[in-house]
Amino acid sequence: MAEKIQYTVQMGKEKEIKDASNGEVYDALTSIINEEINLHWHKTNEKYEEIQGKQVYYLSMEFLIGRLLENNLLNFGILDITNEALKKLGFNPEHIYATERDPGLGNGGLGRLAACFLDSLASLHYSGHGYGIRYRYGLFEQRFIHGNQIELPDYWLNDGYAWETRKEEEAVCIHFSGIVHMFKKSDGNLEFKYENTDKVMAVPYDIPIVGFQNKVINTLRLWSAEPFINDDYKGESNRDLDHEHSIEQISGYLYPDDSTYDGKILRLKQQYFLVSSSIQNMIKQFKKTQSLSLIHLPDKVAIQINDTHPSLAIPELMRILMDDQGFGWEQAWNITTKVMAYTNHTTMSEALETWPKEMLKQLLPRIYMIINEINERFCRDIWFNHHKLRELIPDMAIIADERIHMARLSIVGSCSVNGVARIHTEILKNKEMKHFYTVFPDRFNNKTNGISHRRWLLKVNPELANLITEIIGPEWIQRPKQMIGLLKSLKDHSILEKLYAVKQKNKLQLANLIYERTGLLVDHQSVFDVQIKRLHEYKRQLLNVFRIISMYNDLKSNPDLDIVPRTFIFGAKAARSYHLAKEVIKLINKVATMVNYDPDIRGKLKIIFLENYNVSLAEKIIPAADISEQISTASKEASGTGNMKMMMNGALTVGTLDGANIEIMDLVGKENMFIFGLTAEEVIHFYQNGGYNPNDIYNKDDRVRKILDQLHHGEFGTHDIEFKDIYYNLLSHSDPYFVLKDFESFIEIHKLVEQTYRNQWAWQEMSITNIAYSGYFSSDRTIQEYASDIWKIKPV
Ligand SMILES: *Cc1c(COP(=O)(O)O)cnc(C)c1O
Repeated sequence: MAEKIQYTVQMGKEKEIKDASNGEVYDALTSIINEEINLHWHKTNEKYEEIQGKQVYYLSMEFLIGRLLENNLLNFGILDITNEALKKLGFNPEHIYATERDPGLGNGGLGRLAACFLDSLASLHYSGHGYGIRYRYGLFEQRFIHGNQIELPDYWLNDGYAWETRKEEEAVCIHFSGIVHMFKKSDGNLEFKYENTDKVMAVPYDIPIVGFQNKVINTLRLWSAEPFINDDYKGESNRDLDHEHSIEQISGYLYPDDSTYDGKILRLKQQYFLVSSSIQNMIKQFKKTQSLSLIHLPDKVAIQINDTHPSLAIPELMRILMDDQGFGWEQAWNITTKVMAYTNHTTMSEALETWPKEMLKQLLPRIYMIINEINERFCRDIWFNHHKLRELIPDMAIIADERIHMARLSIVGSCSVNGVARIHTEILKNKEMKHFYTVFPDRFNNKTNGISHRRWLLKVNPELANLITEIIGPEWIQRPKQMIGLLKSLKDHSILEKLYAVKQKNKLQLANLIYERTGLLVDHQSVFDVQIKRLHEYKRQLLNVFRIISMYNDLKSNPDLDIVPRTFIFGAKAARSYHLAKEVIKLINKVATMVNYDPDIRGKLKIIFLENYNVSLAEKIIPAADISEQISTASKEASGTGNMKMMMNGALTVGTLDGANIEIMDLVGKENMFIFGLTAEEVIHFYQNGGYNPNDIYNKDDRVRKILDQLHHGEFGTHDIEFKDIYYNLLSHSDPYFVLKDFESFIEIHKLVEQTYRNQWAWQEMSITNIAYSGYFSSDRTIQEYASDIWKIKPV
């Protein structure tokens, strides 16, 4: 390997290896491995064509794939020899891998899930591929200035991207707007023709998805919008540049709206652009490789839509089947509803997507006609076949109140509707979507999320992976559930000591990173108490910072208080237009400045808010976490996957009974985690009965009153109105996420955390128990469930 790298640098850069920069060595390595990839990529595609099996397409507006070089080396089985070679040549492998840009083509959990699924599909020999958008600018880069979040553009393609291949010959044309003409054909059927449409080219860029040591290379195909080149256009001037610019905007930016906080016509264009190019492409592929009629499409293709963002795939497939392929409505509907499957990611009504009817009608006139017809037929079906639901038609109609309800369209147009954790699916069935569940009881099913144990354990925490292999042998890497074998070491002090040593080493590494990035020294013997996730009211970073303020207040009034030193680590981006979330970021930063430099605290508390939380940063923080804060308002977090990543790396969860936390508890037992707070049932009960009165807590609880008064009097800010919106949201707007209501319980559970941590044997036992059960949360398990229950596919 060393010679190969040396040679490639010499040939490519015309310089000796000793003079090469980290970036140049990175280039050499990617070109070496890309050669290998291309060979197997080609073979994989040939194999798929030869056996003509069923293909799965995962449609998602986001793919948060993270850096690829180290991952690809690992999956090819040459990571260790490459690391050795790099060291021999005088390079630090870490520094080489760190030169890769992190493609920020997603906001958070939903995009990261899509990436883990692709990894599992390839590693388990499934022919499953991703379709997404090649945004020129990924999610903004976050900086803090005076504690405020500043968003910088993330031009991740600046120096090119080594893993993509442009496939111009596979470009397709997308039509927007225009006029639809309807004709009656001689056989009585209708025919539709479009005129004066705005045409946009969709050019695919392919990224290889390397399976784990199995030579399978699947494809992530990302579409880029380009002007439609037509002879008529040549030689025209200014207007054209504007026109080109507006077209390129379609794949210009990822919308930083983790749930809602935005929604413009451009976003709708992006969605249609993704689904139209993807569906056209798969129909072409089907016709090229299969000698069957499109009637058999459901035997050969399954499409999973990741949340409602790609749900226009349903009317788009209808359009192509009817207008281009000549099917009648009934046949087209039969095919479409068998191919499509929908994953729901949220029950929060403000995050359920709807579009103004007029906007969609203007932009996509033919698609609008089809949605209208789907709606008419669905409403008629309820009227005639579900008498008890007649009165509820206005609440169920796809088009209602001048808006198009995308979740309703997705349910009606799919063969499967799944939630992403058991409690979430139950809430869908019994509350949020219960009328639809009455109509389509067989469609609803649960697929609890998962994470790639290859990336989130093998790659990010090699020392822990080695320890696991040392204890139970290497088979868990193929079958992660076998990690359960770790339970035999519960009482083995020599193993528990090793587990402790691995964590300490990871914490020391993170402490170094923190020092490099912030100049702050943290004690790697302190408890690393971690909350990393998008900033959202329902995720309750505010509750966490209130606890920290409370601990600070306690220490100020009693500096000799005997507490276990803690380092609080935060990572979180807020959507640009999400005012309250940005206030919370500023509050954490201000409290950090106050606490970190207060001599009375004597270093017992440190607050570190790392900038620009993304996959690469997560990979550094997670192996070093002692405590995983999963403290959402119960019923609000559909699943969470950060909780799984940290559990798999031996952190103990402090959490509410929400999302997948509940399933973690079912596995490890209540005694192996720290559960607190209102249950989902209690929260829902409060909502149904008009909430609770936070002023009661303000009046009763001295700690809460003190914190709120400090907020109000500007003790954390530079002026007294600085955090007034947080203050009023809690006291006047009745604390919609129950921050004050759960405060006491949160403080109490952390007393138990502290007590437990003082007994390191008990702590390490709990830690190894969590690791042992974490195999269930490998996305391999999730993908196997999708494959057998929804997609009906087998490994190739
Ligand atoms: C896993 C992950 C998430 C999701 O975290 P949650 O705690 O489940 O919200 C978000 N962002 C990144 C970068 C991740 O790796």
